[in-house]
Amino acid sequence: MNVLVVGGAGYIGSHMVRLLAAAGHVPVVLDNLSTGFRQAVTAGELIVGEMSDRAMVTQVLGDHKIDAVMHFAACALVGESVIDPAKYYLNNISATIELLEAMRAVDVKQIVFSSTCATYGEPKVVPINEQTPQQPVNPYGFTKLAIERALSDYAAAYDFGYAALRYFNAAGASPDGVIGEDHDPESHLIPIVLQTALGQRDHVTIYGSDWDTPDGTCVRDYIHVDDLGAAHLAAMDRLKLGEGLCVNLGTGNGFSVRQIIEACRKVTGHAIPAVEGERRPGDPPELVADARLAKEKLGWTPKYTDPEQIIETAWAWHSANPSGYDKK
Ligand code: UDP
Repeated sequence: MNVLVVGGAGYIGSHMVRLLAAAGHVPVVLDNLSTGFRQAVTAGELIVGEMSDRAMVTQVLGDHKIDAVMHFAACALVGESVIDPAKYYLNNISATIELLEAMRAVDVKQIVFSSTCATYGEPKVVPINEQTPQQPVNPYGFTKLAIERALSDYAAAYDFGYAALRYFNAAGASPDGVIGEDHDPESHLIPIVLQTALGQRDHVTIYGSDWDTPDGTCVRDYIHVDDLGAAHLAAMDRLKLGEGLCVNLGTGNGFSVRQIIEACRKVTGHAIPAVEGERRPGDPPELVADARLAKEKLGWTPKYTDPEQIIETAWAWHSANPSGYDKK
């Protein structure tokens, strides 16, 4: 299939592009390079532009005979979404609707959408299954939920076929160390711990050690970026016009901040100083997927179930590219 990967120069999108090419598909990347990197695109053509440019996207869809779209282009930082909600409403909602309208104009009706466990908010029951009420507690989660609703309406009214994949904590890198995670500023736990292992930071701050969890620190479900990609391939194969599928993507296993830091010490062989600090506003104590529906509907199971395996791939990237991508 010819697949337009919107946000294909970003962290998850760039891993998707490699998997698409390896599976015999033809990826075409559309990215505005606001947070993505040209060097991260290791297969297919890169078109630098805005997904909100409906005329341009319509042209790209037609010229490249696109069969399906994978949409990764989003602002995805909870804290930033609280401080600057307009950025999230404009990019994650308005620009995405423009993308859907470009698709509708040329009858491209298949889309796999990156959603998030942040659409659930702070669930009372863990693990989280797809029946858990979606009550986002920040603008980021709300904008993703809004697009899930839009896709459902587009499926009913315009015969779109979609999958909304609700990621838990994406982590890891391509095992060959060629592409990986590079955010500025970095806010995610595993890259921060590995940057500390590299001596780029003095210590890791643990955001809260008095949570009601087994060791007092927050628990998350870390899922390898290539496992996310494999689920997208399976979802794309199963798209049905007029229908939608919403599934969680996680391993079903939770690990605490302390457990992750310890796993990083083991993988890297570095001491990695850690300091207990304040809770980070907006952090739910525990987010773990009930991932059974994805297994059932997509025939998908994650290959990486042990955080050490995930961290090994991230360490291969960070240690070979301590400054991330070349910013020149
Ligand atoms: N975290 C931490 N110190 C850091 C960065 C993150 O203790 O420097 C914690 C954070 O509070 C959360 C977990 O690590 O409980 C994962 O955070 P991340 O930002 O990677 O992902 P999120 O769960 O927010 O999507």
